[in-house]
Amino acid sequence: MIIKELKSDFKNSLIGLYPSEEIQSFFNILSEKYLGLSRIEIALNPENIVSEEDSEDFQKALIRLKNHEPIQYIIGEAQFYGLPFKVNKHTLIPRPETEELVEWILSKQKLITHNSKPITILDIGTGSGCIAISLAKNLPGSKISALDISEEALKVAQQNAELNKVEVEFFQADILKTKRLPKQYDVIVSNPPYVRELEKKQMQQNVLKHEPDSALFVKDDDPLLFYHTISHLAKTNLKANGKLFFEINEYLADELPQLLKNEGFQNIEVKKDIFGKNRMIKCSLNEPT
Ligand code: GLN
Repeated sequence: MIIKELKSDFKNSLIGLYPSEEIQSFFNILSEKYLGLSRIEIALNPENIVSEEDSEDFQKALIRLKNHEPIQYIIGEAQFYGLPFKVNKHTLIPRPETEELVEWILSKQKLITHNSKPITILDIGTGSGCIAISLAKNLPGSKISALDISEEALKVAQQNAELNKVEVEFFQADILKTKRLPKQYDVIVSNPPYVRELEKKQMQQNVLKHEPDSALFVKDDDPLLFYHTISHLAKTNLKANGKLFFEINEYLADELPQLLKNEGFQNIEVKKDIFGKNRMIKCSLNEPT
């Protein structure tokens, strides 16, 4: 088979299931992965022969795409904050909104890096490790720890730290059962599960069928459970000038400032993502920002 045929068979198999630009993008991603050819190289060499083995890889990927599996799980990789991350069904696929959270933390954190002690950061519910690792990469000399309930996710996170050549201390913990955090931190950050069960009807099949429920969903009657628990723990484990950052559900942004105020936090700031949705919140215990 030649590239041109492979491409037209691929497109025909997915037509009606995905928009054509997305099919094109899947083909480019898989060509890069399986054939080692860029988009341009593919376009310039339509007559190149594709081996039996490579074409089988495309066939297997097609079956998974027809089952709405995200392309990132199929190739086992995603990009986050300009860095490569391994992902699998035990980890959420890193989202662009979360890159904005990292950007926000870095913009605030750089201001206090000139004190002599290393900055200490804890990431709660780290998943693939994307927040912890991108912070570590951009804050040399910092001491970053990250926890997750899932041993399987932690394996992926550890591999990602090695892949990106940073040191992060990972440990397993169920934050809802944690009585005390191990250290005092300059920053505590979390992107906890925050999607209510009632929001499932608006969600895409690729997310619902393939991404880990435990990383996404909370009960309709207690959607802020993680925010309660984490802010309560953070109160005793943030250093004097420390800050707490969360990614948040746009629909729950009005209730969160009150919750944080009740826990004794100040300087509460909600920030929108590039889509104009309330997507993150930050607060501190005492220092004006
Ligand atoms: N933003 C993610 C989504 O919409 C949810 C992430 C989370 O629950 N922390 O799928």
